[in-house]
Amino acid sequence: IADVRESMFLVSEFAKNYFHDVLLNTEEGKAIGYSYFKERGFSAETIKKFSLGFSPESWDAFTKEALGKGYKLEFLESTGFTIVKDDKQFDRFRGRVMFPIQSMSGRTVGFGGRILTNDKKAAKYVNSPESDIYHKSKVLYGINHAKQAIAKQNNCYLVEGYTDVIQFHQAGIENVVASSGTALTPDQIRLINRLTKNITVLFDGDAAGLRASVRGIDLILEEGMNVKVCTFPEGEDPDSFARKTPYEKLVAYLEENSRDFIQFKASLLMDEAKNDPIRKADLIRDMVTSISKIPDRIRREIYIQECSRIMDISEQVLVSTLAQMVQKDM
Ligand code: ATP
Ligand code: MN
Ligand code: MN
Ligand code: MN
Repeated sequence: IADVRESMFLVSEFAKNYFHDVLLNTEEGKAIGYSYFKERGFSAETIKKFSLGFSPESWDAFTKEALGKGYKLEFLESTGFTIVKDDKQFDRFRGRVMFPIQSMSGRTVGFGGRILTNDKKAAKYVNSPESDIYHKSKVLYGINHAKQAIAKQNNCYLVEGYTDVIQFHQAGIENVVASSGTALTPDQIRLINRLTKNITVLFDGDAAGLRASVRGIDLILEEGMNVKVCTFPEGEDPDSFARKTPYEKLVAYLEENSRDFIQFKASLLMDEAKNDPIRKADLIRDMVTSISKIPDRIRREIYIQECSRIMDISEQVLVSTLAQMVQKDM
């Protein structure tokens, strides 16, 4: 099995170099892929740093090239680059800009490929399938480029997408990784936990992004980590926002708008609950649920005080609600 995985890593590394080379050195790659990245504001240096690429608009250009170089069909299939159907071989990635996904140590384990049109019917991103080397729930996009900055800054920005990570790097903020479309998982959080105890969630300024941040919060708390949330204006994501904001302003925005999870929940849900006492009660229960996930007792206590203050409700009630929840967990 070790040999199998090694062969899969080699195929993936070859693919990374192939797609990058097509982007930089073929007419098609330059005209379609490279100009797409340029239009998104990515510099040549950024394109190189992230080994961005392009997959030709062809049924089997990559498969043919790889077989010609001696890579075995078996490993082209198990990594998902080649799809075999009725004895015919097809490339999974065709006419897409390519984002290699790398492990903490920088090995290429999979790819995301984006279409260039805004065709609502086609999937915007196609990803490598799960395999012996690619477990979606265990990788964080950008971790290999971010690990030192995360440790140094003692904080990790968590975003949704590839382009958010890349645009932040280009803007000069390097302690950033993406969950890349999957709901955040405990394994992903533990990867960050090896580098820092502090996560700031920066999800898209839309309803889906907000829901995803709320879901992620409790998981992060359960790992005993500190979580802040920073939201963006409606319709913006970290990529679009960073692209039009100068470095100093971006840093200031992140600082001023990062709130502790408890304040984030309060403001988010207060908007919804308004003066409805039943909604307000649900909201308070929701906040206490989050607090109950915190493993450390003293920190739970401090958050109970905070919640009591923000929501204007007695600590006593919160403490007894919390006690019931913590007991149920045991
Ligand atoms: P772009 O700016 O290129 O439109 P994005 O990163 O802002 O991309 P979102 O729609 O916000 O795209 O999605 C966030 C992330 O979720 C993507 O970067 C990608 O990793 C993942 N994703 C989105 N759509 C799909 C899809 N159809 N299939 C698989 N993954 C997807
Ligand atoms: Mn989104
Ligand atoms: Mn987005
Ligand atoms: Mn985007």
